[in-house]
Amino acid sequence: MTAIIRKPDTLDKLKILSADAQYDLACACGSTKDEHRHRGADGKWIYPVTLANGGRASIFKILLSNVCSNDCKYCPLRQDMNIRRCTLQTEETVRLFLDYYNRKKVFGIFISSGVIGTPDNTAERINAIARVLRYRHRFKGYIHLKVIPGSSTAAIEEAVSLASSVSLNIETPGADNLAKLSNKKDYLADIIEPMKRISQMTARGNRYERVHQTTQFIVGAAEEDDRQIIRYMGGLYDRLHLNRIYFSAYQQGLGAADLPAEQTLQNPKEILTREHRLYQVDFLMRKYGFKDSEILFDEKGRLSLDKDPKEIWADNHPERFPIDINRADKFQLLRVPGLGLVSVNRILKQRQFAKIRRIQDIAKPNKRLNKATQYLKF
Ligand code: SF4
Repeated sequence: MTAIIRKPDTLDKLKILSADAQYDLACACGSTKDEHRHRGADGKWIYPVTLANGGRASIFKILLSNVCSNDCKYCPLRQDMNIRRCTLQTEETVRLFLDYYNRKKVFGIFISSGVIGTPDNTAERINAIARVLRYRHRFKGYIHLKVIPGSSTAAIEEAVSLASSVSLNIETPGADNLAKLSNKKDYLADIIEPMKRISQMTARGNRYERVHQTTQFIVGAAEEDDRQIIRYMGGLYDRLHLNRIYFSAYQQGLGAADLPAEQTLQNPKEILTREHRLYQVDFLMRKYGFKDSEILFDEKGRLSLDKDPKEIWADNHPERFPIDINRADKFQLLRVPGLGLVSVNRILKQRQFAKIRRIQDIAKPNKRLNKATQYLKF
């Protein structure tokens, strides 16, 4: 008897593809590391996000296809994995998204994809959706497009011209590390050069300066250490002016059969803590004025798993403390362990009216504020 295999309909495809889309975090989904992994109640393709103004909204996040001709060893979609493959068509995706958008369920769309044949074929499919939305449906809202490593400059330029933000995943710091993970991707030609082109197009004063560029590191798959990742982060922020960097802890057992055990961190809890520490460093660099050269590591180039990186920096710089809570500027205050943006803004506001004499003048003491008092002078 011949088994009849039903072709997946749109809903089947959405279910299959949204399960696979969860590994790609380089989007506006969430402002904290955990929010990236949350999905909305309306379907696993709807993700809650925090907007720049602090408000909440949802985004339609979809993997166009889980077909892939690449061989990234950490990825459950790589070509030799035996999984059910499917691809959404352009009109199907546009219809689906507009249905959610017109019902005000989502404010924008995030589109990524495995490599369907060639990078340019894939880029054309991704761009086609954005083109139809922008030109036929006059959609002016948020579109995030994944840039496929190895796609042509023309395809990349079209993506930038259509998108609100684009991302190309750097995956790992340096060509040597990438060679451990993929035989097909060329670090300079397929990843770094396209990132540079995007950064030129979106530089301040240029036509596409409104377009954001983000990227993502896979953490713990290539024996890379934190020092290497953080040095690359410094370059990506300072020289290529990226808007945001995301981190995805390598998840063992999801298609990593070829990764040697010594190449990966074995303890899943450790690797999630490491991902968390990298997000903390990212915050220090983007919001608190830290440079990558100020971050401290152990002799193996690792961040501490036990203490947060700001506290380690402060404890290694006793000459900088205590600082005067009534005189220090914003960035000096932000270097105090236990003080975040909210408490620093409160201090700056409060001292316009009166001298701060004790921590209770700012807020009810808690564990974090109590820690901060050790580094402050009143
Ligand atoms: S290009 Fe690599 S990371 Fe992306 S879907 Fe294909 S195998 Fe996975």
